[in-house]
Amino acid sequence: MARRQKEKKLNNLIPGSKRILAKFLPQIAKHKLLIAISLLAILAEVGLQLLEPWPLKFIFDKLLVPELEGDSVHLVLSQEIGPLLLLSGLTLTIVSIAVLRALATYASKLSMAMVAAKVLLDIRSQLYSHLQRLSLSFHYQYKRGDLITRVTSDIENIRNGMIDAIVPFAINTVTLIGMIVVMFFINWELAAIALTMLLVFLFVANYLIGHIRYSVRKHRKSEAIIASTTSETIGAIKIVQALSLHDALERIFLAQNRDNLNRGTKSLKISALLLRTVQILVAITIAIVLWQGAILVMNKSLTPGDLLVFISYLKNSFEPPLRKFANQTGAIVKTIASGERIVDILEYEPNVRNLTSAKKAHPFLGAIKFEHVKFGYNPNQKILQGLNLAVEAGQKITVVGPSGSGKSTLISLLLRLYDPNQGRILIDGQNLREYTLESLRSQISVVLQDSYLFATSVRENIAYGNLQVSQKEIEKAAKLANAHEFIINLPKGYDTLLSEAGESLSGGQKQRIAIARAAIRKAPIAILDEPTTRLDNASKLAVMTGLNRLTKGKTTFLITHDLDSIENNDLIVYLEQGKILEYGTHKELMRQNQRYATLYQLKSSFANKQLYTGQT
Ligand code: ADP
Repeated sequence: MARRQKEKKLNNLIPGSKRILAKFLPQIAKHKLLIAISLLAILAEVGLQLLEPWPLKFIFDKLLVPELEGDSVHLVLSQEIGPLLLLSGLTLTIVSIAVLRALATYASKLSMAMVAAKVLLDIRSQLYSHLQRLSLSFHYQYKRGDLITRVTSDIENIRNGMIDAIVPFAINTVTLIGMIVVMFFINWELAAIALTMLLVFLFVANYLIGHIRYSVRKHRKSEAIIASTTSETIGAIKIVQALSLHDALERIFLAQNRDNLNRGTKSLKISALLLRTVQILVAITIAIVLWQGAILVMNKSLTPGDLLVFISYLKNSFEPPLRKFANQTGAIVKTIASGERIVDILEYEPNVRNLTSAKKAHPFLGAIKFEHVKFGYNPNQKILQGLNLAVEAGQKITVVGPSGSGKSTLISLLLRLYDPNQGRILIDGQNLREYTLESLRSQISVVLQDSYLFATSVRENIAYGNLQVSQKEIEKAAKLANAHEFIINLPKGYDTLLSEAGESLSGGQKQRIAIARAAIRKAPIAILDEPTTRLDNASKLAVMTGLNRLTKGKTTFLITHDLDSIENNDLIVYLEQGKILEYGTHKELMRQNQRYATLYQLKSSFANKQLYTGQT
């Protein structure tokens, strides 16, 4: 029972195609003219193909007449039409059909290739921008390599599939239908034999396609796994080399590679089986048609020319489409599998998105309030447990607490990377969900522990891709971030190209560029998530100077383990297991002598010990 259900599911290519078509239709509909040209060309091509054997019928039925010579009968040319006229007429007809058919094929291929290229260009851009908007929860769920495969090779598969498989499939289907109709006009008995053969073929094909689809999907999946492994290995090349992980990773890769090869071969094997079935079925049909056709000719219910047209149809116009169909099933299924992988992503709705009533935020003053905020990354998790916190505009809040207590989660909610499960967050008295995401995030500057720099110039990294930012503003931001000095000493100053992820810079330098990038925004709210954690003391000082300038007058959330940098009048929030356990200035919390004070004393004695033993 379960197996039957599985097969039923596998065989079902139609729902998959419908989903894809529904998503692609708006893009396809933009190219009505090209599609109309292509359909006309396809019809012309099929019509001409159906006409091809008719000159033969003419020769056999009209031009060759039987002549008795002794005991035997010979076919001789009828004398009614002059041989020259006959020869030129026939040559002209055959050549004209061939030339017109070639032109029609060219037009259909070219116009479809153009439609495919244009549609896929749109879909790829749509996919790329959709991926950027999908929530973080989505990105944690999918592997990077898998997503890259979808944007690159899956799109390419569909494009090739449309040109090499789907269009020929459409042509072959129309040809087969047209031919069956013409056959019925010539002789219904022989046509019924051909139709039966076609139905047997469709039955076998339908059964095998389910299996092909299954292996093609697995094949695509294993290709995505290979891409993910490669992307992870290259992304972590430093660790791979430092820990000599080559052998282990190569073993894993080899196993994945073998699996990929096996799955690829499996669908090819089934396609080949389908092809052999076509050959056998066509041979059987031709034999039966010849047998039955000869009887009909002898009974004078069929002309020899009709039988010739029939056999020619079966051999030249019936077998090739079926054979191509068998050959292309793999490609068609592959195209559909790739299409489904694209649609899977496009149908994924970001769970954090603009409400229909969302408005562009006014320039914030910066008062922030968390009201009974509860949050977990999945339904069973309780990361923040009814958190309340009010911050006045321009106030600086330092969030401290053990690792995993929910500090970064708190600021992710403020940036609306996730929405709270319960409770709300207000900015200037308004729930932040009522603002559009863009207008909210553009008013928050962020400096994280690991600031990602793009593989482009220092200038572009600071300007954030905003073309309206002038060189003067960039330099001003860099000076504020304490970065101008080292930038002008780089080989090409602000035009120096950074290597991927800014690897050519030191940690402190990267952080200072990130501060300049944050300063460009002139946002009233700043979020600093452990911005100095990985830095040595000298770099820390330079970064802190930049940060102090950046956050001046802004509502600031600073997450830090670096308790030395806390100033006496800053407000401190002590978070543990998603709850605020202490709240006040450094002095007040030291006086309370509870968790914060213990943490501070522990840090100080650890720092003194380091100083004493000379460790850093
Ligand atoms: P902190 O910043 O205080 O170290 P976090 O806010 O990063 O703590 O994490 C709080 C808890 O949430 C931790 O237990 C962590 O494992 C979990 N967590 C963080 N990010 C995710 C995520 N994307 N998916 C699932 N759990 C997460």
